[in-house]
Amino acid sequence: MLPVLREAAAGCRACDLWKRGTQTVFGEGARHATVMFVGEQPGNDEDLAGHPFVGPAGKLLDKALAEVGVDRKQAYVTNVVKHFKWEPRGKRRIHAKPNAQEIHACRPWLEAEIALVHPKVIVCLGATAAQALLGKKFRVSQQRGEFVSSPLAPFVTATVHPSSILRAPDDETRRVERQRFVEDMKKVAQALASA
Ligand code: SF4
Repeated sequence: MLPVLREAAAGCRACDLWKRGTQTVFGEGARHATVMFVGEQPGNDEDLAGHPFVGPAGKLLDKALAEVGVDRKQAYVTNVVKHFKWEPRGKRRIHAKPNAQEIHACRPWLEAEIALVHPKVIVCLGATAAQALLGKKFRVSQQRGEFVSSPLAPFVTATVHPSSILRAPDDETRRVERQRFVEDMKKVAQALASA
């Protein structure tokens, strides 16, 4: 069923973002993955490759998972919005935040992924994913790493998007933020062990 869904999403025109992105970047991972990571949208690298979390942020996520003993093969990675929204800056394509209509239009794809994969743990990465799945009042800055009651899965939590760690203003901040992220992943590993 996931391949069918992926194929259908490749032709999605439910919002205007298909005109801007190179291709639909659908979620990837095991059909019965125990943990699902949900980001905001594919980035430049993901848009070109057609795969989620393959750029530097994805590599940071992979390393953090390896550090806490979560097998990457256990995970399914996806985004709230499946096309890359960007604005030109010189020759570069700069990330632009998806709006509420775009998030709403793309939501059925994410809901279908959750229903099919049926993960034990869902981890929202960043404020856009957290607010889309946990409600507008959810504040990643104050509630990161907390598990909240949700009909989506037995364990649902949120933390920062790994790309925000890469954007830290200096090496020391990046090191501290990375460590905090690993601590959040430890909680995910514990939830997986108890699920
Ligand atoms: S962003 Fe989502 S809803 Fe919009 S065209 Fe792409 S797949 Fe469809």
